[in-house]
Amino acid sequence: MNEPILTIVVPCYNEEAVLNETVTRLRAVLVRACREQLISQGSTILFVDDGSSDRTWEIINQYIQEYKEVTGLKLSRNFGHQNALIAGMETATPYSDCVVTIDADLQDDVNAIRKFLIKYREGFDIVYGVRDKRETDTFFKRNTALLFYGVMSRLGVKTVPNHADFRLLSRRVLEEFVKYQEENIFLRGMIPLLGFKSTEVYYNRAERFAGESKYPLKKMLNFAIDGITSFSIAPIRMVTYLGGTVAGIGFLIGLYALIQHFLGHAVSGWTSMILSIWLIGGMQLIAIGVIGEYIGKIFKETKHRPRYIIEKQQVRPKNEHFEQKAL
Ligand code: UDP
Ligand code: MG
Repeated sequence: MNEPILTIVVPCYNEEAVLNETVTRLRAVLVRACREQLISQGSTILFVDDGSSDRTWEIINQYIQEYKEVTGLKLSRNFGHQNALIAGMETATPYSDCVVTIDADLQDDVNAIRKFLIKYREGFDIVYGVRDKRETDTFFKRNTALLFYGVMSRLGVKTVPNHADFRLLSRRVLEEFVKYQEENIFLRGMIPLLGFKSTEVYYNRAERFAGESKYPLKKMLNFAIDGITSFSIAPIRMVTYLGGTVAGIGFLIGLYALIQHFLGHAVSGWTSMILSIWLIGGMQLIAIGVIGEYIGKIFKETKHRPRYIIEKQQVRPKNEHFEQKAL
């Protein structure tokens, strides 16, 4: 049996401090998996430079010259983690039997990749890396993450708790995935929608090996809001409900004003004014909510901008096995 070709996709944004260790560890994983005949010789590591402003791309280039199994993509600017992942996945799909995505910072255990491959060889199409414990994350990060998974599931978005973007996808999953052309991407929500036979592999999450988190609070919050709004129209529906509530209160206040009127406690004109302010205000909110619901849907579909732009790439098949595949 021909061993499968694996591509490990690694998004990198200003990761010069950690790349040396990353490439060493990932190469060791490839060598071992090759030796165990889990993957073929043509397997590679694909670094995606997401518009870094430090020496990340130069360093990647050095590795490309030095090691035949290292390849790279440079995006024209910073497109964000999710788009960088997609750029790597889409590039790798035509020549890979399976793709593993992993962050550059070595927080995810590279040795879990071997377990992913074993699962893949057993016939699973999607293997999720799930964090066993999150002791090394700060109290704040752990709990905000938990809150986020909770809110997501309440809003009806299916995700795998404690799974970030460390996973294996088979080629047929990738081929289906590239058909999802939406702009608001939230991979953790999209992958479970694909179906296929999937499983989980548990691992311990380490601390960042070097460098700093590229997800400060503000980015994390935006990521969470993006995740929610691209998968659920619940927030817009809440506006509708709010409108309904306000209209209800308006009705009660109107009733109160009418009673005051008949009891002769009101200046004439006051009643009708109060009535219209509240009733019309409430109805307007309902209307905005309903329209918003549709605009939200249209907005998601219309822009069709490219999700990433590749400035340079060095992914040419490098060894014989690859060249045969590429022809
Ligand atoms: N990353 C990226 N583009 C960005 C931000 C981050 O490609 O705009 C990469 C980053 O280099 C890393 C991964 O995404 O490999 C996850 O980022 P980080 O480790 O900083 O996030 P955290 O683990 O702190 O949530
Ligand atoms: Mg990290």
